[in-house]
Amino acid sequence: MSNEKRQIAILGSTGSIGTQALDVIREHADLFEVYALTANNNVELLIRQAQEFLPEMVVIANESKYEPLKAALAHLPIKVWAGEEALSQVVQAEPIQMVLTAMVGYSGLKPTISAIRAGKTIALANKETLVVAGELITQLAIENRTPILPVDSEHSAIFQCLAGESDNPIEKIILTASGGPFRTFSKEQLAAVTKEAALKHPNWSMGAKITIDSASMMNKGFEMIEAKWLFDVTTEQIQIVVHPQSIIHSMVQFSDSSIKAQMGLPDMRLPIQYALAYPNRIFSNFERLKFNKFPILSFEEPDTCKFRNLELAYEAVRKGGNMPCILNAANEIAVAAFLKDKTSFLNMSDGIEKTMQQVPFIASPDLNDYIQTDAEARAKAKEFFN
Ligand code: MG
Repeated sequence: MSNEKRQIAILGSTGSIGTQALDVIREHADLFEVYALTANNNVELLIRQAQEFLPEMVVIANESKYEPLKAALAHLPIKVWAGEEALSQVVQAEPIQMVLTAMVGYSGLKPTISAIRAGKTIALANKETLVVAGELITQLAIENRTPILPVDSEHSAIFQCLAGESDNPIEKIILTASGGPFRTFSKEQLAAVTKEAALKHPNWSMGAKITIDSASMMNKGFEMIEAKWLFDVTTEQIQIVVHPQSIIHSMVQFSDSSIKAQMGLPDMRLPIQYALAYPNRIFSNFERLKFNKFPILSFEEPDTCKFRNLELAYEAVRKGGNMPCILNAANEIAVAAFLKDKTSFLNMSDGIEKTMQQVPFIASPDLNDYIQTDAEARAKAKEFFN
């Protein structure tokens, strides 16, 4: 790395990934500098982060929070903006080299497109962007010669396994899944799970939306779609394997039958740091894996009868077009309803399936089609869940 500090924008700096990225940057202030921070709603934390990291600009998406943000930072040389549109503008600022997309759900799509068009390297934590519009995003990234570096732990693992293998085609990706808190539950037990139980992930500490997605296995369905686009493979080349210890973060099999795995304790700061410092590996004081604490690494097949979301994700990506966008929108509404105790755990899949049947299919959608599909799918899903 050159002695100039890498200039970073973090979209979603107050969330789980955003705060952990700032932990990494704080430890490596000699390498990284925060150029822009954005948040959706959490103005109190955004103020504290801005006071500590002194970015050039901050954005709060929720415009009603603009005044308190502006007032709190008035004595500092920080530009303060508000609104969804400002997110797409801020990422274009000339000095920014890397944009970490760490916001939740569909809201990541437009700012990510804007950052790619401006030629910024993307550190992609917002997997929904590739679920919704993977073809459009990967095409744009190729046209703009913009690297997309994965932050999702599984995809970071695959990416790390591919280092030095650029001439060697992937035969198969083995995407590992913890199986979540309900891995061993029967269908009857699944029918009765509460949101409190679903919010307790056995291995990973993450935001609420992705924790529910992990419990329902939709997260793994999304990651299968994400892997297809990031690594240019077919869904048949991706095998999902349940590995409850979350030590192997994913694997790649090559044409000579050799399999490479990336391992470590489950800690999101590692894949975040790998993307921020790429292609370098930099020191971390993260806890080291001790094999005697994990005498058994086990593997099982995922149960798509119990976890129907996995099957729905395969169906959506095989159908292609705007179907994964419908899947994502319906899932966002389903998870929000579940978190408000308005639907049961298993009923989420029913609503997603129904929405996939109802919204008109578009085989080759453009950006406007995606925007319209997202709105229609949300409306249909709300009818189901409310
Ligand atoms: Mg993951």
